[in-house]
Amino acid sequence: MRSAYYHYYITCGERDLFFKLMHPKTERTLVIVKPDGIQRTLIGEIVKRYERLGLKIVALKMFVPTERMIEEHYLLDPDWKKNVGEKASASYKKKGEMPPSSDPIEVGNLVVTRLKKYMTSGPVIAMVWEGAHAVELVRKITGGTEPRSADIGTIRGDFVVDSYQMADSDNRAIRNLIHASGSVAEAKMEIPHWFAPEEIINYRTPQEATLYDVDMKNILG
Ligand code: GDP
Ligand code: MG
Repeated sequence: MRSAYYHYYITCGERDLFFKLMHPKTERTLVIVKPDGIQRTLIGEIVKRYERLGLKIVALKMFVPTERMIEEHYLLDPDWKKNVGEKASASYKKKGEMPPSSDPIEVGNLVVTRLKKYMTSGPVIAMVWEGAHAVELVRKITGGTEPRSADIGTIRGDFVVDSYQMADSDNRAIRNLIHASGSVAEAKMEIPHWFAPEEIINYRTPQEATLYDVDMKNILG
């Protein structure tokens, strides 16, 4: 189904403009290098992995988040707490353990409390990355939530040893170096939560001319 934007541009006779504005290369996603990523001095390694793919940074800042900003971030999606609570409860049961509560919302609350402590423990770096399928590709490179089971070759799989089991034993959030938006809809909510419009810079790079070149003309002299 076409979006309201599509119908608006068609009505205005601007079909080509619509496709230009909605081109996949304009997709943006939020990445936060979490406090453990900064402590492990992995900023360069993390940035390199997204950058070498062809994505570009359009906004970046370093700061110590407040608990309020973190809580709001995780609750931007009203279903997140319930979903994460259900996910966590299922993983406890799979291990043959009892979840801390039978209510997924309560389990979600526990996850949020631990995340607030973890995410406010030191500086983080928040970035907006732009490029074709930015959300999906950043997630692919970042790897699964639990480093222990994240694929080899992903950032979480290559650089951390943490597991839900260790995090639960120590009553803390799992340390997985990075937050990355989980979907385009999530990115659309998360980016304005951390960045004012004027902090995001529209600019071009020479490599984009190659990555998104349509007809590959004018290469041979
Ligand atoms: P992400 O998008 O891969 O970071 O994963 P989610 O959005 O599902 O979860 C966000 C954060 O909640 C994770 O980085 C973990 O710290 C925590 N979390 C998610 N799922 C679980 C779980 O099953 N158990 C526990 N203990 N924590 C979880
Ligand atoms: Mg997520």
